[in-house]
Formats: sequence, structure tokens, C-alpha cells
Amino acid sequence: MDFEGRYRVRPGKLRLDDLDPADTAKLTKDDAAGLRERDLARLAELQERLYAESARSLLVVFQALDAAGKDGTIGHVLSGLHPQGVQVTAFRVPSELERAHDFLWRCQLALPRRGRIGIFNRSHYEEVLVVRVHPELLAGQRIDPARAGDERFWRERYEAISTWEHHLARNGTRVVKLFLNVSRGEQRRRFLDRVEEPDKLWKFSAADVRERRHWGAYRAAYEQALAATSTEEAPWYAIPADHKWLMRTAVASILVHHLEAMDPRYPEPGPGEREAMDEAVAELRAESA
Ligand code: ATP
Ligand code: MG
Repeated sequence: MDFEGRYRVRPGKLRLDDLDPADTAKLTKDDAAGLRERDLARLAELQERLYAESARSLLVVFQALDAAGKDGTIGHVLSGLHPQGVQVTAFRVPSELERAHDFLWRCQLALPRRGRIGIFNRSHYEEVLVVRVHPELLAGQRIDPARAGDERFWRERYEAISTWEHHLARNGTRVVKLFLNVSRGEQRRRFLDRVEEPDKLWKFSAADVRERRHWGAYRAAYEQALAATSTEEAPWYAIPADHKWLMRTAVASILVHHLEAMDPRYPEPGPGEREAMDEAVAELRAESA
């Protein structure tokens, strides 16, 4: 199954209403489990090579409305990876220090080192999503909220984001962006589940239900942001999120696709290193067992 091609957002116009959040890619749950198992094993192998190579990195951005399953998907996809090679950063409401800098600053600081996979749980995109839906947040950045009425203001932010991502791509960080597309009905069901099941209650938030009132405004902001910033170097994927099993399978497969394209290699010892290794091996062999 070509999840990469199926869910990639083409640059230009995007209409979320044309996408089915309950899509199953014609797979059964069992088919998906088989594919996922294979891909998670492959992911572990590719991660080891990326880490050994220590020359490049992969940045995976997760964006979604509440209860789409970001946390669970991140946990699941990373389950087979070596923790030392992964850095997860959750971006919440920016701090005073963060707001005292340009809007990409805190994301720059959180980028994965060479050899690592970086996960952004929310990201710089919040600056064109939640901030677009609630322009009064701009005041905290010393920007006049009235500027939000000017289309050009947002276009400039999309441009800044794309330029930054191109810079990262040219310098060895591959950027892959995943929008987990949950339906309004499924979000409602998941919120209600949280209240009804004692061990999920801690996840319930009245604030999330308040944000849900802005559903249409968020969808519009997502449509524009994704269409404007899905590029060859840093593509977006809109992943159906109503079936968690499908979502996790698609995410694993898309990450495998990108790591395979990067094709990380175990480093070869250099000329001097080879000699030092031969000497060390000779020394070990000469020791009495
Ligand atoms: P969970 O609820 O599963 O723990 P979460 O990602 O929803 O995960 P929260 O602490 O509930 O975490 O929410 C983070 C909040 O921070 C979100 O409402 C998000 O919109 C907000 N946020 C993130 N980045 C920014 C930003 N740059 N400006 C303003 N608000 C932001
Ligand atoms: Mg939350």
C-alpha cells in the first residue's frame, strides 16, 4: 500500500471536506497489523543506521485537533526505536522567554541532532493555526492583533516557515509533517469516552471542548497552512485518524518511506582508523584466551 502517495498533500488548494477521516485504504485491521509490524521492524533498523551514520537527521512534525491521537501515535511508532536516538518535544503555550523571540526560535532550539529522529508534538505551525484562530495571542508577541486581518501577514508566516524548512532540508534534516485528520463526530465520541472511563478521565479538558466551538475556523486555518507549506522538501500528509489502527500503520509506513529515501549508511573506517583497528585486533588475538 502506497500510503505516502495516498495521503500526501499536493501544493495548491486543499479541501479537507474532500478527505475521509474514516478512510481505511481498503485494508482490514489484520492486513494493517501485518504491514505495521513489518514497518516498525524496518524503522528500528533504519534508525540504527541513521544513528551510526551521525550525519543527518529526521524531523517529524505532528499536528492535529484535540483527541485525534497524537500522543498515542507517537508512542506507538516510537515503541521499537532506541530511546537514545529519539528526541520528543511537546510545544505548549509559549513562555515569556519564548514570546520574547521570533516565532521560530523555540523550534530551532529543539531540532534533532545529527543521527537522531526529532518528534515535534505540535510545532511552529501553531503560529498559523491556534494564533490564526485566536489573533489576540499576537499581542503577547508585541504584534498588533489587527494585522491578522491582512492576508499578507499569514502569507509571510507561511513563507518564513517554508524558507526555514528548506534551509533544514539543505543542511541534512529531512522534514516530514503529519496532520492527523479526525472527524468532528469521532472527536465528540472520544471526548465523551474520556468522561465515561475512569482511567481516561484525566485526559478530559473543558478547554478542549471550548476549542471545539472553533472547529470551522481551525479547519480553514489547516487547509490554508497545509496547502501553502506542503513542498517537495517538506511535505505534509493528511492522515485519516478515525481508525487508530489505520493511522498508526500509515504513519509507520510514511516514516519508513522517508528513511529509506535518506538511505543512511554505517560509516566506513577511514584509512588511519583501519590501521588502528587492525592493530587493536592483533593485540586482542595475541592475548591468551
Ligand atoms: P495533551 O492535551 O494530549 O496533553 P496537547 O498538545 O493538547 O496534549 P496541551 O497542554 O493540552 O497539550 O495544549 C497545548 C496548547 O498549547 C494547545 O492548546 C496549543 O494550541 C497551545 N499552543 C501551542 N503552541 C502555541 C503557540 N505558538 N501559541 C499559542 N498557543 C500555542
Ligand atoms: Mg490538550
